[in-house]
Amino acid sequence: MAVGILVAAGSGERLGADRPKAFVELAGHPMLEWSLAALRASPSVRHVVVAVPPRSPHTRAEEDWLTVVEGGAARSESVRNALAAAPADDEVVVHDAARPLLRPELVEAALAELEEADAAIAAAPLADTVKEAGVGRWVTATLDRTRLWAIQTPQAFRRAALARALDVPDDVLAQAVDDAWLVERAGGRVRVVASGADNFKVTTPWDLHVAELLLRDRRVSGEPG
Ligand code: C5P
Repeated sequence: MAVGILVAAGSGERLGADRPKAFVELAGHPMLEWSLAALRASPSVRHVVVAVPPRSPHTRAEEDWLTVVEGGAARSESVRNALAAAPADDEVVVHDAARPLLRPELVEAALAELEEADAAIAAAPLADTVKEAGVGRWVTATLDRTRLWAIQTPQAFRRAALARALDVPDDVLAQAVDDAWLVERAGGRVRVVASGADNFKVTTPWDLHVAELLLRDRRVSGEPG
């Protein structure tokens, strides 16, 4: 069995809301409730730890399946705080509350890859051609798109590999673009799991609007309880 970690401790300033992004109302529920419902509906996940903003009025009541901790200054610090409070399962799946369109099937697909990998991370193939441009916006290269993936969460980990990867100074944690990068730099084997662009991260008001439309379309049975 696995434990889920939901990171919800960011401020989300780009959204321009009056509260941390994970607590913004989305299709009738605070945003983090959608991811919590998907994690709860994943058969392999038996407990969830959620990291909420430190010293904030915005938090979440604990339940028998849910532990609440304070997050840190950087995203991976929030993950480290949550892992310290997690029950002793061998597998961990980390998800951003900012990706409310999570499906339980994707959580299960990532966890299934851990038979062979230290980490298995959701990723979408790129639809657009990708070029590199330098000073003055002059194009310096056209990249081979077939080998490139846009990385998302959920990211599933063997717990020992994640704990080792997170055992680094705070300045290294602050540089981490995602937790899988920390596992990569510790020599771990990381594999991508094909996901869709619909598992996007809510960053701007436009993203929030699109997420609202998509979640309103979901069947009532899929709503947070
Ligand atoms: O800022 P961004 O949208 O990239 O954050 C991704 C996720 O990480 C969000 O769900 C956010 O709440 C979380 N986060 C966190 N602790 C931080 C920064 C971000 O839990 N210090």
